[in-house]
Order: sequence, then C-alpha cells, then structure tokens
Amino acid sequence: MEADTNNNAHAELERLEARKRRLYIVALGCGVVIILLSWAFRTPADDAFLTYLYPVFAGLLGGLILVLWLDLLSLPRAEILIMLVAGSLVLGRLGWHHHVSGPIDQQLLVLVGGHYWAVGALIVGAFVMLDRRRGLLAGALILLVSALLAITGAGPEIQRGEASAEALLYLVRVHVFLLLLLVLVTAVAGLRDRLHHALVRAEMLDHWARTDMLTGLANRRAADAYLQREMAAARRYQRPLSVMIADLDHFKRINDTYGHNAGDTVIREAARRFTAVTRETDLVARWGGEEFLIIAPETDLDEAAHLAERCRTALAETGIDDIRVTATFGVTRFRADDGLDSLVGRADRQLYCGKAEGRNRVVADEAPEAAAPPY
Ligand code: GH3
Ligand code: MG
Ligand code: MG
Repeated sequence: MEADTNNNAHAELERLEARKRRLYIVALGCGVVIILLSWAFRTPADDAFLTYLYPVFAGLLGGLILVLWLDLLSLPRAEILIMLVAGSLVLGRLGWHHHVSGPIDQQLLVLVGGHYWAVGALIVGAFVMLDRRRGLLAGALILLVSALLAITGAGPEIQRGEASAEALLYLVRVHVFLLLLLVLVTAVAGLRDRLHHALVRAEMLDHWARTDMLTGLANRRAADAYLQREMAAARRYQRPLSVMIADLDHFKRINDTYGHNAGDTVIREAARRFTAVTRETDLVARWGGEEFLIIAPETDLDEAAHLAERCRTALAETGIDDIRVTATFGVTRFRADDGLDSLVGRADRQLYCGKAEGRNRVVADEAPEAAAPPY
C-alpha cells in the first residue's frame, strides 16, 4: 500500500510539473509574440533597445521554451532562468528609459503607466514562481535595481532643477507602491507556504496513522476501517467477501536463530510476496507482529482458499535469505450477521486448527462444496 501511495504521489507530482511546464511554455510563447509584434511594428524613429535588443530577448525566451519543452533543466532551475531573462528585459527597458531616452518629464507617462507596472508584475511573478524566501530575495533585488535606476537616471536632472515636482512625486509614489506590493506578497506567500506545509504534514500524519512502518502495508487500524466498509457493502449488496489470517510458522525460532533484524526482513518479504499474488482490490494488512490479515472483496470461500494457497506457496517455495519460512492460513467468508470480531475470530479459529494440524497449510471454515449460500 505504501508503494501505491508513493507511486500515486509521484505520478501526481509529475502531472502537476508537466502542467506547470506547459503553462510556462504558453506564457513564454505569448511573450515572444508580443515582443516580436512590438519589434515588427516599430517606427524608424524608435529606440535602439527595441530595434536591437528585443530580437535578442525573443531569442532568449524561445530558448527557454526549448529548455522547458525538451526537459533540459529541472523545473526550479528553469524558473530561476525565466526570472533572470524576464528581469533583465523589464529592468533593462526601465534603465534605458531612465538613462538614454530623454528628460524624465517626457518619459513619465510611459515609465509610470507601463514600465513600473511591468516591475510590479515581475515582483508578483517572483513569488508565484519561487518559494517565499527566494521570492523575497528576487523581489527585493528587483525593487532595489529599479530604485537605483530611477535615482541614477533622474537624479542629475532633479539636481539641475530640470525635473518637475510632479515627476519626482510620481517616482516616489511608484516606489512606495512597489514596496507595499513586496510586503503584501511576502505576507501572502508566507501564508501560502505555511498552508502548504500544514497540508503535507496532515497528509503524512494521516498516512502513517494508517500504515505499518516495517512493511508499508495497511496497519490494523486501516484494516479495521476497510473491513467495516467492505462488510457494510457486502451486507447491503449481498456480495461475497472473504478474509484470511496468515501467521508465520515458528517465527520465534527464526528470531532466536537468525536475530531480530533477519526476522524483520522475513516479515517485510512475506508482506511483499503476499501483496504480489493478491489482486488490486484485495487488502493485505499487517494485523499483528507476524500476522497478516487479507481482505478479499467479491471473493467467495472457494476463491479465497485458492488465494490463500497462492500466498502460502509464494512464501514457502523459496527461502528468504536462505531461511525457510512458511505460514498457516485461516480462511472464512462473511455472513450477513457477522460483526468484525465474529468474522475475524472465525478466521483466527481456522488458523489455530491449521497450527494444530501441523502448520504450513490453508484451513477454510467450511468445505467449499458444502458451503451454504450466505443469505
Ligand atoms: P507459531 O508457528 O505457533 O505461530 O509459532 P511462533 O513462534 O510464530 O509463535 P508466535 O506467533 O506466538 O510468535 C510471534 C513472534 O513474533 C513473537 C515475537 O517476538 C515476534 N515478533 C512480533 N513482531 C515482530 C517484529 O516486528 N519483528 C520481529 N523480528 N519479530 C517480531
Ligand atoms: Mg503470531
Ligand atoms: Mg507465528
């Protein structure tokens, strides 16, 4: 069961990562289209940044699409690369406007109306793509660089008294806004990450509350719950249900002769072999020390006895680390008036008959051909 849970969790993780990759590819593709459109429809008087650097950035984004498409980098690394390229584009463009493109008063509209929004989006994007710590680092760096660009770009003009008070005020306001945005997204990302960790912890606790540590099988509590559900379904829909208890033979002797660790290995391997020969819908659980409960829904007594025989053979036919291991099986089928104790108790009684008869055998509670219909 643990293997199943792990496989499911891994498969789910891989599916989510693949979806994330696809989303990034679409977003980057949109970026490339927007950049190329801006470049294609530029006017001759347009700036050098647009003319020469936009194609370079379109190429870089195209490269990132390839990296994601061909799975060349792990997703976290690819995300850092995306942030670096997007950051260089947005901050490069901002820097160009501040330093090269003319007086601040003439640039104000495009700076505040366009490029600072892009800086804000970049800060939010850093938190969406990276965890809180890296997001805060990237966001603070972006804000610092944008402030430095503004100070070094507009500073001399302001000193010379060439920039209007309005321009100055705008720059201050936009940076205060970006700072608030950084604080807000840091707080939200902190909550998001804590919620995520709490969910993972709760799932792990739930998992280990239901799972046996040594074998990874369902533990007794999980088997109890599963059996209760299956009994209710069998009663309601008048379906067959069988259970069997397996107890390893002379296990104390194995522990005494080969040591407790070897005993543990035997229990683990027995669990693996039983699981291998049962169906997906059967539940193999560790019921006690070296006892296993196997619950087989939709299975009548005859089939269950065969299943137990398969388990018995799977264990007995080859030794485990050169230790010969056998088990005895008590098998019974569910009857409409059964409770959990009466059902398992009956399997247990068959098990003890099997032990008394000499072990390494399957004992079912009625001869299959003599079995009366359960209802
Ligand atoms: P029988 O054939 O009658 O079942 O004989 P047995 O020796 O197997 O007797 P019993 O079932 O009473 O013994 C169970 C032993 O299993 C006792 C205990 O020390 C050992 N045991 C229980 N849990 C573990 C475990 O997790 N690891 C190991 N190594 N031994 C365990
Ligand atoms: Mg026992
Ligand atoms: Mg035993």
